[in-house]
Order: sequence, then structure tokens, then C-alpha cells
Amino acid sequence: MTTSQVRRAFKYRFYPTDTQAAELSRTFGCVRKVYNLALAARTEAWARQERVNYNQSSAMLTAWKQTEELAYLNEVSSVPLQQALRHLQVAFTNFFGKRAKYPRFKSRKKSRKSAEYTASAFRFRDGELRLAKMRESLRIVWSRPLPDDASPSTVTVSQDAAGRWFVSLLCDDPSITHLPTTDAAIGIDAGLDHLLSFSTGEKIANPRHERRDRVALAKAQRRLAKKAKDSANRTKARHKVAKIHARIADRRRDTLHKITTRLVRENQTLVIEDLTVRNMVKNRKLARAISDAAWSQVRSMLEYKAAWYGREVIAVDRWFPSSKLCSSCGTLADEMPLSVRTWTCECGTTHDRDVNAAKNLLAAGRAVTACGAGVRPQRSSPGGQSAMKQETSRREP
Ligand SMILES: [Zn+2]
Repeated sequence: MTTSQVRRAFKYRFYPTDTQAAELSRTFGCVRKVYNLALAARTEAWARQERVNYNQSSAMLTAWKQTEELAYLNEVSSVPLQQALRHLQVAFTNFFGKRAKYPRFKSRKKSRKSAEYTASAFRFRDGELRLAKMRESLRIVWSRPLPDDASPSTVTVSQDAAGRWFVSLLCDDPSITHLPTTDAAIGIDAGLDHLLSFSTGEKIANPRHERRDRVALAKAQRRLAKKAKDSANRTKARHKVAKIHARIADRRRDTLHKITTRLVRENQTLVIEDLTVRNMVKNRKLARAISDAAWSQVRSMLEYKAAWYGREVIAVDRWFPSSKLCSSCGTLADEMPLSVRTWTCECGTTHDRDVNAAKNLLAAGRAVTACGAGVRPQRSSPGGQSAMKQETSRREP
């Protein structure tokens, strides 16, 4: 790992003019269209056991733009469309690397609306940001300062389901440097009744108001379900749901930023559970879904902050029986339903379920580092001590 410049995203709200909003909405639509067309083409090729690469899909885009029915793709900046193809390429790379499910089509209502502009498609000067195909600069609320002499390499515009507009600027941040090395290490476990539990015995409660927000969310969702399709009331109800979602997500993010920064500053090694596989299972339970979403956020924050400050994040495979294993004597308990919050081992030690799991994660992570950096023990049978893998820290995409 180098101590060279750290690039980080700075995200702000902005308020587009009507013209800008229309231009951006049109761009989002074209981005989605191109992504879906390219995904369809790749899927057809995949069925024939062929692969389409980025360059080939880029050539397809050129051809689509020349057809009458897709000529409207020429009306928006071509850069976000190219970036959509790059994102699809990344999605396929992750799929082939078994890190993600097969890419899914973007839906008009459910998918995140965003468009990514690289340097050729925007101009940033004297705190003014102007995007391609736009005459006026964006009205941005500069809620925190950009680094001095910041020169963004990428600008991402998005609109959330609650209708709020955001712009994210990817910049070098010279203020971030590696911290002095420490011996401290910590195991971190994700929970339901608590947000996080640590091997130190500390537990982090869910953010305040969250229980109330969740009740409100469930109520709003029930109301939405009863509205007639395509009615004005349905749109209103959907907006209400989105607003509560956004509130929960905002509070979560604030809490998680504070915790993850503290954890990374205080510890050299951070051991977490790799929930990638479990996250691929669709969850119907609201609490679980929100907790899983928070967990993947925690992981990504820990990983990029670890890279910033010269720390290490180790993800231990989920097959490791972290809850059932006594962290004092190593005895494996038989059954451990989720309702069991504390348990006593044969050896007489009484465990808090989540803290015990965090302690086991830490021990497993230590075993990985003892193997030496860069060593990746292979997954053997579920539950085996070798069922862990080390992952190097990486930036948030
Ligand atoms: Zn024991």
C-alpha cells in the first residue's frame, strides 16, 4: 500500500433549475436505457457461451445512436452513457469473480438515478461546476469545504427516491495520510438488536429514533400497498415511503461515519464477518434488510478508511461458526437460535452472543495475519478453522 494521494468523494445537495432538472432526468433515462441494452446484448451472448467486452459494447452504443428509434441518445452528453457501460463492465467482472450476482436490469421506478461525468464532460473553476450540455453552473450547497485547489476527476449527479438532488465530486485529499502504526486489533460483529458489537465487549446501539422511523416506514408501506396502481395517491404514498427511507438512511450514515472513523483510528487490524454470500439472499424482513444494508455500508466505510489511514480490514468467511464457538475454551455449542442472546458454555463462561462472536472473529483474523500478508487460506468445509479468507482493503467505487 502506498502513501500517495487519497481520492475521496465529496457529496453535496444541489438545486437544479427546471432546465437542468429536465436535462438530468433525460440523461438518467438514457443511462438506464444504454445500461439495459448492453446488459441484454451481453445476456444473449452469455446464453451462447460468449462474452462481450467493454470495447464491443462501446461499438454497439455507437451503432444504436445511428438508428432512428435510439437517435435521442445523441441529445445527452455521451460521457455518462460510456460510464454506464464501464459500470456494467465492473458488474460483470464482479460476477465472473464470484463477488456478485448476475447484473440486473435497471427499472425506471426502483433503480438509483445517477449519471457520471468524467473530466471532459464538466468544468470546475472558482467553485463553479458546469456539466456538459448545460449553460448554467449547478446551484450547489457547499455544506463542507473541498480540499484546497481541489480538481475533481469525476462528478456524479444523482437523485434519490425522495426527489433530492446530489452531486458527488471525486477529488484528491492531501489532508489524509497514514496514521502511526498501533498494536490494537478489534473484532466487529453485526447484530439486529444492536448495530454493532465489538470484541472489547462494547456494543453500539441502533441510532436514536430508528425504531420509531421503522414503525412509520412499515405503516407508510402498508398504505402504499393499498393505493390503486398509477393513481395520484399512489405517487404521493410512494414519495412518503421514500422520504422515511431517506431519513433512516441519513441518520444511519451519520452514525456509521462516526463509528467507523473511530474504529479505524484506534485499531491497526479490524476483523469483520464476510456477509457477501448472505447478502445475496433476498430478505423480506424489514429489520434484517436495513441491518444488512447498514452492514455493507460499515464494511465499505471501514475498507476505504483503512486504506486512507494505513490500516487493515480482514473479512472472515461467514461459515466460520462465530456465534456457537466459546471464545474462552473453543468448545462448539450445538444449537444457537437467534433468540438466544446470552449463553453459558460447559467451561462456565457466560457469553453475550454478539460479543462472543466478535471475539471469535478477532481470533480468526489474527490466525489469518499470522499466516503472513497476502496468504489466502482456501475455504474448506463449512465451519472449519481454515474457512476464512483475507481481503485487501479497497476503495468504495
Ligand atoms: Zn467454554
